[in-house]
This record gives sequence, structure tokens and C-alpha cells, in this order.
Amino acid sequence: MPGAAVYPGLDDWRSLPIAQQPTWTESPAFEPTVKELSVLPPLVFAGEVDVLRSRLAQAAQGKAFLLQGGDCAETFEAATADKISARVKTILQMAVVLTYGAQLPVIKMGRMAGQFAKPRSSNDETRDGVTLPAYRGDIVNGYDFTPESRQHDPARMLKAYHTSASTLNLIRAFTQGGFADLRSVHEWNKGFTSNPAHSRYEQLAKEIDSAIKFMASCGADFEALKTVEFFASHEALLLDYERALTRIDSRTGFPYDTSAHFLWIGERTRELDQAHVDFLSRVRNPIGVKLGPTTSPDDALALIEKLDPNREPGRLTFITRMGAKNIREKLPNLVEKVTASGAQVLWVTDPMHGNTVTSPNGYKTRNFDDVIDEVRGFFEVHQAQGTFPGGLHVEMTGDDVAECLGGADPIDQEAFLTGYESVCDPRLNHKQSLEMAFLVSEELRKSL
Ligand code: PEP
Ligand code: MN
Repeated sequence: MPGAAVYPGLDDWRSLPIAQQPTWTESPAFEPTVKELSVLPPLVFAGEVDVLRSRLAQAAQGKAFLLQGGDCAETFEAATADKISARVKTILQMAVVLTYGAQLPVIKMGRMAGQFAKPRSSNDETRDGVTLPAYRGDIVNGYDFTPESRQHDPARMLKAYHTSASTLNLIRAFTQGGFADLRSVHEWNKGFTSNPAHSRYEQLAKEIDSAIKFMASCGADFEALKTVEFFASHEALLLDYERALTRIDSRTGFPYDTSAHFLWIGERTRELDQAHVDFLSRVRNPIGVKLGPTTSPDDALALIEKLDPNREPGRLTFITRMGAKNIREKLPNLVEKVTASGAQVLWVTDPMHGNTVTSPNGYKTRNFDDVIDEVRGFFEVHQAQGTFPGGLHVEMTGDDVAECLGGADPIDQEAFLTGYESVCDPRLNHKQSLEMAFLVSEELRKSL
């Protein structure tokens, strides 16, 4: 490929079966776009990626907890300062509550600054007798239901790159520039618990308050706590894009996919002998794999062998998304066999993707109670196995949307008519996200 970094094996995926890709290689814009992407500056730096790997290694060893959250699908239109900062703010708010609950450092990671590509269960969508290509995320085509908009357009990869760059720029400013001061984040959370619907969380908020006062009396350096590390992640779905952003690090000599710090392989593209697993086995970034209810222990062991042959803590994260109904039945065997193999993966729960339902009025939604039930099941299984429940992966937003049902300040299906904004899966809104953090914090405290 013109301009792209050369390294043995980095292009082997091209001769393997590959799922969920756009049909755009014949477009005249394809070659020039890939060429341009392959010489643009990296979005993240190899040194940062290495820091993240060491943080995740801590989590794999039970000494840190991962919080990964953001949209199901980011859109170009919603990459505004208000929406990006609201989401970062919500993740930081959740992180403070979880830090208190876990009594451990919380690694903060956004499904942000690159989460533009979506796998779909069907290639097409039919409305009123008209069939068009399915929406595959803003990096591939538009959401509007017209032939022009739904056409796969490789030039969108450049827009995705630049939107990721400006999103990351804002995230870096927000988290490095003093806005993330622990005391202000705690003040924001007080707003949440002062809502009568959330009074049951007041006690925990008070405890956090006295912990902060205690730190202050001991002379804690709050200036040093004004900045936080924040990492970017997305599903590595479009290998044309991921490959073009891969660079050989001059310091270590290894290839890094510089589109994000952390990349994950989705449930639909985790086939062992196919392109996604092969490509991601070649880059140094920490890698996640989503594991759904059909995953067998042998699948998991083979993924470990391929993606983490050196058994390097922090390299491999298994993000289980079993569904509340399955988690207590399916997870134990997986955890047991993986642990028995000697591998040290980081176990994270995604309580969203196994719990998607359609509301009676026709919206794709999730019940807050199911989401929480899966998290509880995840903790129960790991407690019983003596393994560490190391993180939480959620689809959430900082805005006041209505997409998931329930919560203490409940959302009902009527609210979807005016408050449903997601172009893909339903997200927890700001309040539901914080409520989840309080509930998970209570779980974490039980396991101390
Ligand atoms: C997602 O994370 O949005 C997603 C599609 O998940 P999964 O691969 O687990 O279905
Ligand atoms: Mn999703």
C-alpha cells in the first residue's frame, strides 16, 4: 500500500476471509485516501499506548479497575464541544465513585475519538419497499435513507481521522488543563445525589465527601490531582483505516495502530483464522475481544494463543457480553478454563450488548435492571472463581437522552418519541450512567 509502514505480517490479513467491510476498493477515492491517511500524523503516541498497557496489566492483576464508556456509534455531527465534554465529564464522575468503591485506581477510557464504524447484522435496510445499503457508521456512509447518503464513500475515512483528531484535542485539553480537579468532579456528583430520586446514594456521596476532606486535612496535593489520564478506544472494524494508521515506532521498532490507544475486536469479527484477529495480533496496542454467549473455552484459549502468545499482562482484555440471562451459566466455565491455562487476561463486563430488546413502541432499547443484573452476575461469577472483575464497558452519554428504560428517575417508552438520539444502540443517559457507577461501587465495596 502506498506510503504505509512496512513490517512483516502487517498485510497478511489481506489474503484472509474478512467480515463486515464496505465495498469501496473500486472507488476512485480509495487509493488516494489510504495514501493520505498513511502519512498523516499519528492520533496517539506509542509511549502512551505502552503506558496504557502497563495500567491494564495492573487491572489484570487486581490492582486497578477499567472504566470504558461512550457512544455505540459516534457521529460527525455530534462531535461538538458540548457533547464531547459532557461525555468526558460523566466518565470522570463515574470514575470518582468507582475509585471510592474499588479503593483502586480507575483507568478512564472513552469509546471516543474514533468509534465511527459499525458491524451490521444485515447488509441492507428496507423501508416502505425501498432497499438500500445498511448504515455502517459515519466513516462508511450516511444515516439518511437516500441512495447518495447510503453509498460507501472511502473519503469519509479522512473526515473520521480529522474528527477523531479534534475530539482527542478537546479531551486532552479537558483532562490535562485542570478541569478534571477531583474536588469539582465530586461537586458535580453532589448535584446528582441531591435529586430526591437518587437519595439512596446520598450516604455513599457523603462518605466520598469525608474521604476528600480527610485527604485535604492530611495535606494531599490536589494540584497534582488536577490532571487525569484518559485513553481513547474503538472497535477496530475497518482494516483499511486501521492499517493506514499503523506506524513503526522508532523507539521500539514495533508496529502500533495509532488510531487509538486500545482497540477491540467485535463479537462478529473474532473468527480465529480471519482478517481481524490476524491484523490485531501484529500491533503492539493492548487489544480487547468481545465474547458473547456462544464462546467456548476453546475459542477463548485459541484467541489467547494468537493474540497474547507471550502471556503479557495488559495485552489482552476479554470483554464479556453474555446477557443477564446467560452470564451466571456461561461465564464460569470460560473463566475457569482460561485461568487454568495460566493466562492472565483482564476480564471486563459489557452489560449492554447481550441485553438489547425492542420496546412495544418499536425502539431498540435496554432495561436498566437487566444491565445492572448482568454486572451483578459478572461480579458473582468472579467472586466465586477467585478471579478479579476488572472493568466495566458501557454505552453511555453525558446528555439527557431517553434510550434505555428504567433507572431511579425512570425513563419510559413514551420518552423515546422525543429523547431518542442514538443512530445505533441505546445508551445510558447521564443520570443512568451515574446511577450505574453508584451501584457498581456498592458491588465493589462488597468484594473488598
Ligand atoms: C458494540 O460494542 O457496539 C458492538 C457492536 O458490540 P459487539 O461486538 O459485542 O456486538
Ligand atoms: Mn453497540
